[in-house]
Amino acid sequence: MLNELEKLKNLKDFPERMPVLFIGHGNPMYGIEENDFTRGWQKASENVPKPRAILVVSAHWETPGTRITAMPKPRVIYDFGGFPQALFEAKYDASGNPEIAKEVVENIKRKLIELDESRGLDHGTWTVLRHLYPKADVPVLQLSLDYTKPAEYHYELAKELGFLRDKGVLIIGSGNMVHNLRLINFRASESLDWAISANNKFKDLISGGEHDKLIKYKTLGSDVALSVPSAEHYLPLLYALALKNEGERIEIFNDAIDLGSISMTSVKIG
Ligand code: ZN
Repeated sequence: MLNELEKLKNLKDFPERMPVLFIGHGNPMYGIEENDFTRGWQKASENVPKPRAILVVSAHWETPGTRITAMPKPRVIYDFGGFPQALFEAKYDASGNPEIAKEVVENIKRKLIELDESRGLDHGTWTVLRHLYPKADVPVLQLSLDYTKPAEYHYELAKELGFLRDKGVLIIGSGNMVHNLRLINFRASESLDWAISANNKFKDLISGGEHDKLIKYKTLGSDVALSVPSAEHYLPLLYALALKNEGERIEIFNDAIDLGSISMTSVKIG
């Protein structure tokens, strides 16, 4: 019996290699609001063939070891507090795709990924996908971040996911390359200098393809240290960059600092 991916492989009208996105997700409220950022997300999905499935590496799922959601119907997780009731009532009714989850586990030779039957979709995923695919008619999977591993590990693991791009899977890293909640200011009208400096540094290194420096972000100075006080919102960027093939186009969008200390800067590859 053909498994799901073999069936996909045999489809003659299968779309071209899927692009890869890194989305700066920011404030959970953007899941139910429309603004320049959410319009930027929508625009990023224009001209992209409708994916077979979406695999999101979200900042908001950290585990010991790497896990992938493998249930037919992932629930929505409201993994935040102190927001208006309307956000807790927001839905994202997508299916999962256990077959693709199993294919990922089998195809990642060097690293062990475990199937997860209990996790749902956290807000790093659904607040963004409500704008990218509002009909929730594309199956969604999530991959966790192994918090015991260094940045190099995540970059190398991500490279092994590249085959999914040729199977019609849209891979999205969802985080924020500058993300310091301790210094956030909901009334900030001006961005903080260190946040602007780090955001510019990241953009230059991304455009220049200097992935080694981005992997070794801890050596990039004090502005970057303030921007990445913990790794989880930064690592999804490394997943996206690792999936870039030689010569592929790279586009930076939503280039702005929000709330003083959160960079919404996002990247489209391919
Ligand atoms: Zn977040």
